[in-house]
Amino acid sequence: MNDNITLLEKKAAELGCEIIKNEPLSRHTTFKIGGNCRLMVVPKDEQSCCELVKQAEECNIDYFILGNGSNILCSDNGYEGVIFLMSKPFGKVYLEDEKTICAGSGASLAKVCLYALENSLTGLEFAYGIPGTVGGAVYMNAGAYGGEIGMITIEVRAVDKNGNIRILKPDELEFGYRKSIFQSNEFVILSAKFKIKKGDREDILAKMNELMDKRRDKQPLEYPNAGSTFKRPEGQFAGKLIEDCGLRGFEIGGAQVSSKHCGFIINKGNATFDDVIKLIEHIKKTVLQQTGYHLECEVRILGS
Ligand SMILES: Cc1cc2nc3c(=O)[nH]c(=O)nc-3n(C[C@H](O)[C@H](O)[C@H](O)COP(=O)(O)OP(=O)(O)OC[C@H]3O[C@@H](n4cnc5c(N)ncnc54)[C@H](O)[C@@H]3O)c2cc1C
Repeated sequence: MNDNITLLEKKAAELGCEIIKNEPLSRHTTFKIGGNCRLMVVPKDEQSCCELVKQAEECNIDYFILGNGSNILCSDNGYEGVIFLMSKPFGKVYLEDEKTICAGSGASLAKVCLYALENSLTGLEFAYGIPGTVGGAVYMNAGAYGGEIGMITIEVRAVDKNGNIRILKPDELEFGYRKSIFQSNEFVILSAKFKIKKGDREDILAKMNELMDKRRDKQPLEYPNAGSTFKRPEGQFAGKLIEDCGLRGFEIGGAQVSSKHCGFIINKGNATFDDVIKLIEHIKKTVLQQTGYHLECEVRILGS
């Protein structure tokens, strides 16, 4: 495995990709938690991404696709496999026609929303303020304030496990609540197309500002966190259940149930992976005992 990673590193260098060794993953997660990853590669373009996936699969190398790390809790032991970081080289956003925005998987949702605003295009306002990339948003079917990425996605371009480019249409994307086909097929998302329509620039801006103000008001943005820790149980809000169980402000080590929004766990400065895991387990157990609801993590765990 180790020799195989060295071979993959060589391949990435030949392809002209950026290579980062022993990189602390705490620098790449909004929780600011995570040990070193042995090898991080920033694929240079679609072709290099295809070749790297193919080699990683053929050599049985563990790999993980990272966007902005805003939905990830990473182990303090780091990650022994290879991280493919989908960032700048996949950051393009452009208009295909007056009804379609194309965005690279490494583009931030903020960039896409601002691009739509500049072109007086409506449909993406709900996503403004979700601190992820297009790839992470499609993978998670990110959503807020009544909108979801799946509702506006008309096509996704991705690399399959054989290193081939595939174009997936809505009927193949299997979007559901915080779900997409990519959670089972593990393809690497390269880009997506979103349907939009002409709107009034002032109205679009007002909506974006209104939603951003709501976030600032309700969410503990002053602390590192990874958004809502748990999915919404059917007919309920995880934060409300947690609050009703008396867990507002409950702490384990440096991890705390936010007192501003009980659905968020915050890193008070020195939280470890174990602190957060123990707090998650405590919350799940307490909520189950007191309310009968099973909470399921929305945050993805990387490493152990
Ligand atoms: C303050 C805050 C507020 C938030 N608010 C919301 C909200 O309102 N709604 C919401 O839905 N989420 C919210 N989130 C969670 C998070 O921002 C979203 O889940 C976002 O879509 C994750 O994108 P990312 O680029 O950070 O993905 P990452 O966290 O890097 O990755 C998430 C998952 O996507 C996979 N992935 C990422 N890129 C790719 C790719 N190119 N190809 C294949 N797989 C990929 C990763 O492997 C991982 O499994 C919030 C988070 C924070 C910190």
